Amino acid sequence: MKHTSLFLLCSLVLLCCGCHKSNPIVIIPNPVECTPKAGHFTLNQETFLCFENVEGEDSHLMRTIRNLYQESFNITPNLGDGSSRRSNRILLEINKKWDDKLGNEGYTLTVRRRSVTARANTAQGLFYAFQTLRQMRIPDLLAESKSITLPCARITDYPRFAYRGAHLDVSRHFFDTAFVKEYIDLMAAYKLNKFHWHLTDDHGWRIQIDQFPALTSVGAWRPERKTWDTLHPVQPDEAMTYGGFFTKEQVRDIIQYAAERHIDIIPEIEIPGHCSAILAAYPQFACDDYPYTVAVGPYWPPKAIMCAGNDEVLEFYKKVLNEVAELFPYPYIHIGGDEAFNDNWQVCPKCQQRIADKHLDGEMALQQWLMDQIDQHLKQIGKKAIIWDDIVSDDMVNKSTIMCWQGPEAAKTAAKHGNDIILCPTSHCYFNFYQEDPSKEPLAMTGLITLEKAYTFDPLPEGLDKEQQKHILGGQCNLWTEFINTPEQAEYMLLPRLCALSECVWTPTDRKEWRNFSARTEYHRQMLKKLGLNCR
Ligand SMILES: [Zn+2]
Repeated sequence: MKHTSLFLLCSLVLLCCGCHKSNPIVIIPNPVECTPKAGHFTLNQETFLCFENVEGEDSHLMRTIRNLYQESFNITPNLGDGSSRRSNRILLEINKKWDDKLGNEGYTLTVRRRSVTARANTAQGLFYAFQTLRQMRIPDLLAESKSITLPCARITDYPRFAYRGAHLDVSRHFFDTAFVKEYIDLMAAYKLNKFHWHLTDDHGWRIQIDQFPALTSVGAWRPERKTWDTLHPVQPDEAMTYGGFFTKEQVRDIIQYAAERHIDIIPEIEIPGHCSAILAAYPQFACDDYPYTVAVGPYWPPKAIMCAGNDEVLEFYKKVLNEVAELFPYPYIHIGGDEAFNDNWQVCPKCQQRIADKHLDGEMALQQWLMDQIDQHLKQIGKKAIIWDDIVSDDMVNKSTIMCWQGPEAAKTAAKHGNDIILCPTSHCYFNFYQEDPSKEPLAMTGLITLEKAYTFDPLPEGLDKEQQKHILGGQCNLWTEFINTPEQAEYMLLPRLCALSECVWTPTDRKEWRNFSARTEYHRQMLKKLGLNCR
């Protein structure tokens, strides 16, 4: 087995970006420009790590990079003044006027035999330069070489899309702070910058809200069942032993951790469906007196929906969102809006009264009205809404950012209406789907997205003019956790498809090529495994 993989490694070398036989360049996502040069830089105990103009609000970068350096090279860095040395040094410099083309996230990186120089307009660009540098060590690491060698090259790099995200559902199964941080580290390693944190759903409410303590004392807990497919409802004698939630202190810690890695967090509070956990805690917000419980399996279609005719429901959402807005610095909050089955609204006197009072054309219009109320509230408190594409229609008036999970048609309609768009279609970005033949894989959500299929994702739908294209912010992968109940399983479903996603949202299309990517991914797969991650 060992010999087979070694042979595979040797045969892959020729396919990669660099041509140096023993030390290829295997960066993911593939940089915009990468010119391999002869020779290599040797990093050792005497190497100096120097920062230039990394000061003020950017100074956290020094600590983050020092830690990464220690972790990646197993050497405590010598810190020094960049101007005093010319050889055996790694110089990282922020120069606000370095190169307009690089924007806020790009960088240049030059590895010479005697020194390494990275420059960027911003701290974020420099952070990505260092992520690239870490990856240049992978072949050496896999070969278990005693020295640390980085192949010589000139790299110029910047992203194709500003929004490069990954989503994690912590409701269907709970994942704690340690795993969320690991997830953020993986995102940062692949230059992703938006973490979509799915905090509420039928299966558990996962964030402390001071004004509604039962959301977490009741709504975060359910019986522990062996499999997700156990459909029968919660029984009166079952103990509520499975669950968990994030305290505000933990949330602040995670926000800080992500910020140091240049990742913004978008919290999601689902409105008005996917709310069994809310109704288990606060049954007065339902249209009926059904005994709602935190859901334990895949009830379909979900019956739970918040009563849109009840003013207290609106007040509830506003208070919750005020607390969420106070915690999260990023301007965007995701307010759900998907799969809201409105059967209850059709027979609820309060909802019907609201439809009559507001002269709305039925239940779909009632949902639009509700989402608009929330949207306006967010504007008042200085935030902006992201909504799932279920809201998209030819006559939509809502100007929120739309997250398209259903496919490019909704994205095109929304772009023509002038809404900003993030793509995460089920066809390419649902990493809870199988990645190979289901008969040979652990149980997962129906659907198949192989690594190769994931790699064909292009966030830009065809048929948009230049003006409409500007509304495509980027894309993300979604990790729904129906069948993912441990960190190991989450890693297995995420890796290496995350590599594909990162290249789809970062690399220009003319720098994307499946065989070349596949060869580089083989190195990453082995590196991730070496780091103890359960990469498929
Ligand atoms: Zn109602």
